[in-house]
Amino acid sequence: MIVILKPNLPQEEVEKVIAEVAKLGYEPRPIHGKVQTVIAAIGDENTRQSLETLDAWPQVEHVHRVQKRYKLVSREVKKGQDTIVKVHGQEIGSGKKFVFMAGPCSVESEEQLMSTAKAVKAQGATFLRGGAFKPRTSPYEFQGLAEPGLKLLAQAGKEYGLGIVTEVLSERDVELVAGYADILQIGARNAQNFSLIVEAARSGKTILLKRGLSMKIEEWLLAGEYVLANGNPNLLFCERGIRTFETYTRNTLDLGAVAIVKKETHLPVIIDPSQGCGRADMVLEMCKAAAALNADGLLIEVHPNPAEAWSDGQQQVDFSLYEKLVKELQPFIQAVGRPL
Ligand code: PEP
Ligand code: MN
Repeated sequence: MIVILKPNLPQEEVEKVIAEVAKLGYEPRPIHGKVQTVIAAIGDENTRQSLETLDAWPQVEHVHRVQKRYKLVSREVKKGQDTIVKVHGQEIGSGKKFVFMAGPCSVESEEQLMSTAKAVKAQGATFLRGGAFKPRTSPYEFQGLAEPGLKLLAQAGKEYGLGIVTEVLSERDVELVAGYADILQIGARNAQNFSLIVEAARSGKTILLKRGLSMKIEEWLLAGEYVLANGNPNLLFCERGIRTFETYTRNTLDLGAVAIVKKETHLPVIIDPSQGCGRADMVLEMCKAAAALNADGLLIEVHPNPAEAWSDGQQQVDFSLYEKLVKELQPFIQAVGRPL
C-alpha cells in the first residue's frame, strides 16, 4: 500500500505513522519529498490487516491499495490458463463449445416445461433454465412453483438429457435446490448476499453468479471470490444488464464488463440477453454480440407462448424465434474459433 502524508508534517508526526505501518505488519519505506512524505508499505495486502484505517489519521492525506482485492478469481493465480468448468458432461470455458442454456423464466406447468425442453434441445441447448423460486418485485406476483417446479425441471432434464440451471433464493433452500439442479443460479438481487453465496458454494454445485443491478465489476468479482474462497472452483459469471438512466430497455446489457471480466479472471462468462435488455425483439442482436465477444455461452428465456407467460413475457422468445436465433448465431460462433 502507499500512504501519502499531509504536506509539511513535523518529523515526529511522520515517525508516528511509520511506526503504525510497521505495527500492522508491513515494512515501511518512507520517501521524503520537499513538501510531503510518501510511505511505501511492503507486504501482502490480502493476508494482512488493511492500512486503509490510516485514512482516518490526521497526518494522512490518502492511502492507496496497490494489489487487487480479489485473488482466487484473478488471472494471476492461474498463470494465464483459463478454467474450464465441467458440469453435466459439458465443458464450459475458453475454446470450448459455446453453451446454450435456455428455457422459461418461470416453470409454470408440465406441458409448458416439457415442450420448451424439447424445442431447445432440438436446437442444441445443453442446459434447461427455469425458475422454481422467483425473486419478484411485488409480493402479489407469481413466486414460482417451489419444489413441484424443481421436480418438473428434473423430469424434463432427464427426459431430454439436459442439465438444469435454476435459481436458489434463500440459504434455507440450498440443499433442496441442489438436490435437483446441476447449476445453482444466484440472482441479481442476491448477488451480494454473501451468506447465501457461501452456502450455495459449499453445496459443491456449479454456481452461476449474476451481476447485481447496480454492482460494480470489482464488487461482482469479489462476490465470485466468495465461491472460490469457500472451496468451490466451479463458478460462472453471468452478465445480465445493470440499471441505468435508459428506459428503452429494461436494463443496459454491459458488454464492456464482459470484456473486462474475461481479461481479469480465468473463469467462464455467460451472457443473459433476456434480463439484459428486457425485450424479445432485441435478444437476437444481443446474442450475436455475446458470441462475437467470445463469451462462453448464453442464458436465454424461451417460452411456448410469451404473451401468456406468468413472468417476464415481454422478453421471452418463442420457439420459432429461438430456432432462427440459434441458426443466425452460428457464423458468429465460428468466427471466434469455437467448435460448433
Ligand atoms: C431470471 O433469470 O429469471 C432472473 C430473475 O434473473 P436476474 O436475477 O438476473 O433478474
Ligand atoms: Mn426472468
